[in-house]
Amino acid sequence: MKLISLTFDDGPDTDTTCDVLDRLARYNIPASFFLIGQNINAESRKSAERALKQGCEIENHSFTHSDMTKLSPDEIIDEVSRTTELIKDISGRAPQFFRPPYICYDQKMFDNIPLTFICGSGCDDWMPETSVEKRYRMTMEHAKNGEMILLHDMTGNVNTVNALDLIIPDLLYHGFEFVTVSSLFERLEVTPQRGRIYSNVFSPLA
Ligand SMILES: [Zn+2]
Repeated sequence: MKLISLTFDDGPDTDTTCDVLDRLARYNIPASFFLIGQNINAESRKSAERALKQGCEIENHSFTHSDMTKLSPDEIIDEVSRTTELIKDISGRAPQFFRPPYICYDQKMFDNIPLTFICGSGCDDWMPETSVEKRYRMTMEHAKNGEMILLHDMTGNVNTVNALDLIIPDLLYHGFEFVTVSSLFERLEVTPQRGRIYSNVFSPLA
């Protein structure tokens, strides 16, 4: 058994998130979306609701997407709890996982954020100049059992949508099953630990 999670940051929006969901629906696979609280509005919320209907999960990526190592404990708590409340309102379930903006984190954040931190293996897909081919190739290099792949459904990120047309079938061909981040931990029987950050469930980075 080889399990892997596709994870998408910086949504929800009303176009790229939908294009990503179209790709996931085509192959009938789930993913985990890490939402920026301030991006959630009456329209973009529908994309998050659709994600849930497709078996995806929605998790926390802060409220304003700032470097949170520069914030006070109260500001850190506010960033996370505001987004958690919005997610609970959409899904009826509290998020379990948190992705620190820019993957900037420190002990103060671990101490004040009651969620498991996720990093994930990226492919520079937040840079418009990264080609579809490079996004595909880097993702395939990272792919292994227990891995979380870090992608972005931010507005206009067409190259990642197009890379999914290569990534998903190739990972299926190589025997991977796609699951959400919570299922990845559950099915691989790893208990996510507070005060750690993971790209792979078997080997926390910190
Ligand atoms: Zn981000």
